[in-house]
Amino acid sequence: MKSQISFRITSAGDVPAADALPASAQSRQALARGIGADAAAVAVIRREQAALEAKAVELLAAAACKADQLGRLPGCSLQHSRRSLVAEVATTLKIPESTAARRIDEAELLSRILPATLAALARGDIGYQHAQAIVREARSLPVGASGEFENAALAEAVSLTPAQLAGRSRLLRERMHPETIEARHREAREERAVWIENEHDGMASVVCHLPAASAFAIDDTIDQLARALHSPEETRTHAQLRADGLVDLLLHRDGEIAARARGIRANIAVTVPVMTLLGRSDEPGELLGYGPIDIETTRRLAAGAPSFTRILSDPITRQRLSVGREHYKVPADLRAAVVLDDETCRFPGCRRRADRCDLDHTTDWAHGGETSLDNLAALCRRHHTLKHQSDWQVEPGDRRALHWRAPSGARYTTRPPDHRRPHRAVTNPNRPPGNVPRRQPQPLPDEPPF
Ligand SMILES: [Zn+2]
Repeated sequence: MKSQISFRITSAGDVPAADALPASAQSRQALARGIGADAAAVAVIRREQAALEAKAVELLAAAACKADQLGRLPGCSLQHSRRSLVAEVATTLKIPESTAARRIDEAELLSRILPATLAALARGDIGYQHAQAIVREARSLPVGASGEFENAALAEAVSLTPAQLAGRSRLLRERMHPETIEARHREAREERAVWIENEHDGMASVVCHLPAASAFAIDDTIDQLARALHSPEETRTHAQLRADGLVDLLLHRDGEIAARARGIRANIAVTVPVMTLLGRSDEPGELLGYGPIDIETTRRLAAGAPSFTRILSDPITRQRLSVGREHYKVPADLRAAVVLDDETCRFPGCRRRADRCDLDHTTDWAHGGETSLDNLAALCRRHHTLKHQSDWQVEPGDRRALHWRAPSGARYTTRPPDHRRPHRAVTNPNRPPGNVPRRQPQPLPDEPPF
């Protein structure tokens, strides 16, 4: 096939050599623009790649169609014809047969039931990984529901990373699935299991397939344990401490670390529709950082909660107006509101959970910024530092939107995920009153208050 790539790459142009100029504002600006131009040129290549991926999808779907026709000929078998197709694609592309089978399957789904996604890929509006995220969720929806799901997922896809889109798509699938989450969860939890995946260099992964609430509770427990192990002398990274903590918990149960873990109670936050809590509605709860979970689990978690914070929201706009103050002091309930609204770090593309982020004054406190819901945003430590120590800038917008400006001048807007419903209560089965979503953000060392 003749390549149809036409590269429209703009050169970074007359960027001065870094060592030839003083660090003046002019050279700083020119370098920033140069970086922006290079990034934009890569984006052009990515669009062309996406268009070629769409072509590959069409060809694989066509090949699958031919394989089926072949399998229906007298004396042939559909099963053998399909196996032969997978082998043909795998050997031609030098990829494992499992990968070939998945690509063929994705191609057929995209061609057959997700035409708008395939068209968006062909235009380069989304990448192949975006398309995969949509296929992954659409495949388990009844055909009648896939159109509505596809439209909703695509509307968000253009502004999200593949990982963000995967999260949103899962949420949309839950909402649009005609079967109740109870029935689906009952069936899915039968598949719970733990297994090993061998890796290179003497390593292996333990994979646990668990109900989401249990998985999040385990994750939080090892995270709290790792934080408890931090000390000025500690040289291990947080990720290494999490891994070592898990090993100690399971294999060295008489050891010191396992003893420290006994005092830890997992914190997970679930928003509960009040009417569900009262038994008058079947609307599922939502696990913070995950999405909808079944009613039985929601009620069980709610029953174990020592306290509730009522979240009052405008029934029309669904925008949260205030957080009840029955149990929390002002900074704490405000923090809870920001964490629940933001869900993740608010830097473009970042998925760090909000309850593991710092809270940043969008307009600095020193410049008159208020400590209010509208002027606070969750930023992970990395992006919090970037905001204050580089030329990235941010301005607040309507309904807690953040308008980011890269040093090159490129602009991005992030908004809190708008999937809260009115009249919900937030509950955390293990969180004592007064201790709002997980740990308090620590101030950055040697930095002024933001
Ligand atoms: Zn971040």
